[in-house]
Amino acid sequence: MAVCPVCKMEVEEKKARGTSEHKGKTYHFCCKACKKKFDETPDKYSTDK
Ligand SMILES: [Zn+2]
Repeated sequence: MAVCPVCKMEVEEKKARGTSEHKGKTYHFCCKACKKKFDETPDKYSTDK
């Protein structure tokens, strides 16, 4: 189970509404709005700190 980095909701990888790669890590999103937010400011939501 992955966690949507934007809203912290659990997301099943297979059911993710979108994925993005950031600094070599793949993120799964619960909805397209979250993916859009992440793509705009990935450093704000990245768990790789
Ligand atoms: Zn989300």
